[in-house]
Amino acid sequence: MTFVPFCGYYVFVASLQQRLPENVPGDFFVDSTCIDCDTCSQLAPGIFRDHGDQCSVYHQPETDAETQLAMMALVSCPTGSIGAIERHDAHLGIDAFPHLLEDNVYFCGFTSESSFGAWSYLITRPASEGGNILIDSPRFATQLVKRIEAMGGVSQMLLTHKDDVAAHELFRERFECERVMHADDGANRLGVEHVIRGEEPVQLADDLLVIPTPGHTRGHVVYLYRNKFLFTGDHLAWSPRRQTLTAFRSVAWYSWPEQTRSMEKLLNYEFEWVLPGHGDIHKDDARTMHDYLEHCISWMKTVK
Ligand code: SF4
Repeated sequence: MTFVPFCGYYVFVASLQQRLPENVPGDFFVDSTCIDCDTCSQLAPGIFRDHGDQCSVYHQPETDAETQLAMMALVSCPTGSIGAIERHDAHLGIDAFPHLLEDNVYFCGFTSESSFGAWSYLITRPASEGGNILIDSPRFATQLVKRIEAMGGVSQMLLTHKDDVAAHELFRERFECERVMHADDGANRLGVEHVIRGEEPVQLADDLLVIPTPGHTRGHVVYLYRNKFLFTGDHLAWSPRRQTLTAFRSVAWYSWPEQTRSMEKLLNYEFEWVLPGHGDIHKDDARTMHDYLEHCISWMKTVK
């Protein structure tokens, strides 16, 4: 991995000498520094795949749209493990973030190695409605920070759990945003301004709720915005293989039974989007999401 100047910015690029043999021949490639966070295979599944313990390129971009997706993956990779032999305009990737998902909710890209490539999101709101909200922390990349600043900065930073806090202090310093986090994940130790306690949901705004969901970690929470967008951290995600909502047993660091119980609490709420830190995003109508959630809970009860 090399740190090189490009168009007035610095970008990480992969090393051709470390190109993985699993890549198909051609322009784009992944090198041996890949930590297998799956950001690239989720962001550009037509180009990158997880071949086991790492990701690689299985289809070289052939269209402008595919090249842009590859460049978005390149700037989002937390370890600078994606490279290209040919010269490409880095702004193809940089300027795509924050990337609009729906309404006023964006995916930030630019993941951080310290959160193992966890995904973060931005909600834009006028200052009169409380200002913008960052959910979990992207990498504090100059390119992204400038773009967020141009979109109105950050008033509040919602942290789902201790693994995905990444550059929270730098965002706090830059934007003087209020951070929100649960006490049981070390919020006080991190100097968080708004500490959530206990297991009861807390209304942060008329359309924004924090729901404690212990399981992955003791102080894990999810955030529900407008009864539509559920920001789930490492609690809940979409499984493309099983075509339903799922949870990750192998990383239930605190308690799988607790996580199952927390999942049951979510049956009381409506949402159309699941926006995780790790795992795939999914959108469907609220009724179908409820069915998927019931299916997930039934499955969780069969897993020890
Ligand atoms: S985004 Fe980077 S670190 Fe993550 S799987 Fe892809 S190449 Fe590996």
